[in-house]
Amino acid sequence: MALPLAHPALAAADPELAGLVAAEERLQADTLRLIPSENYVSRAVLEASGTVLQNKYSEGYPGRRYYEGQQNIDQVERLAVARATALFGVDHANVQPYSGSPANLAVYLAFAEPGDAVMGMALPMGGHLTHGWGVSATGAWFRGVQYGVRQDTGLIDLDQVRDLALKERPKLIFCGGTALPRTIDFAAFAEIAREAGAVLVADIAHIAGLIAGGAHPSPAPHADVVSTTTHKTLRGPRGAMLMCREEHAKAVDKAVFPGLQGGPHNQTTAAIAVALHEAAQPSFRDYAHAVVANARALAEQLAARGFDLVSGGTDNHLILIDLTGKDVPGKAAAKALDRAGIVVNYNTVPYDPRKPFDPSGIRIGTPSLTSRGLGVAQMPAVADWIGRGVAAARAGDEGALTAIRAEVAELMAAFPAPGL
Ligand SMILES: *Cc1c(COP(=O)(O)O)cnc(C)c1O
Repeated sequence: MALPLAHPALAAADPELAGLVAAEERLQADTLRLIPSENYVSRAVLEASGTVLQNKYSEGYPGRRYYEGQQNIDQVERLAVARATALFGVDHANVQPYSGSPANLAVYLAFAEPGDAVMGMALPMGGHLTHGWGVSATGAWFRGVQYGVRQDTGLIDLDQVRDLALKERPKLIFCGGTALPRTIDFAAFAEIAREAGAVLVADIAHIAGLIAGGAHPSPAPHADVVSTTTHKTLRGPRGAMLMCREEHAKAVDKAVFPGLQGGPHNQTTAAIAVALHEAAQPSFRDYAHAVVANARALAEQLAARGFDLVSGGTDNHLILIDLTGKDVPGKAAAKALDRAGIVVNYNTVPYDPRKPFDPSGIRIGTPSLTSRGLGVAQMPAVADWIGRGVAAARAGDEGALTAIRAEVAELMAAFPAPGL
């Protein structure tokens, strides 16, 4: 069992809250965390995000602030920007968006008017809420035109994307998503966007770390705007960045501030800078490739145990399991696995016959377990636990789940989490 981190001032001032933090640390140490949008940040990133930079207001951009006293903050933000542009090979980076959803909203503000058509992948197909889905502000204030994947292949139907784009003439086309196990063809999307006269936005929230580490092709040569969170495979603090060509820099910056936000979260900017520095090291390339190798191995092991994987497997960090043939709904499976110490999320699968709040799939990924040092050799055990957990969910066998939980905790103790 990992020792809880020392937070002496917090423990003295607010033992109740400190106890919850310690419990969360223990939970993150003891469980097998398979949610593909999560990770473990380093101690350095944790420390940077807990600094006195928190105390400073810095509306504006370096050298153009509305508050004085920016001698250090300007340098922090310039460092983060310089590291982002170098790592992703872009002209311009804005590191101020509070998170991925506000970053995407800023893109709408920069390039579209309310009521305009905007295109993205449908949420149940693997897109993100902010790509024009109805319950999101982006679907309420804009006319969301949604594409999907083919039912027979589970792959994005680029012919459908082109037909829709030429018919609807959207201002924006989003590519990227939250449940896409396959490589995104940025060049093909760019060609379609050019034909349709749309701004192409590559939302690489999930795969930014893979791109930084050279384990997924880069959107930089193809997309007008690249949007990303910083807390998923990139292994930074909860935050986001918008990157673009010089021609769009002013519009993007104006949309983030003053368009949408006030003061940037300087402690987060600092932690982003640290994460970008870490992601530029050779060891991060190894990490990104190991994430993909682990996902491939895990997918093979799951398929060998009779699991049906959307698109048949994975090219990246993510696996979408269709449980229809296992006769267990996704939610029941996810909750049972959680009791077994395996943390996943239930998810719709393309053409899901069930409702989004109780869909047919579970979504898993390898970023967190790879950060702990698990490798291909451990993937058969992981697949076994998932297989036994899903079978126990179907049978209502709580004893089996408890037994798995103990086995998981034992393995995880041998692979200490970074940051904890
Ligand atoms: C996670 C994600 C977002 C949103 O990020 P938040 O920080 O949760 O707001 C946006 N787009 C995609 C594709 C994502 O995966």
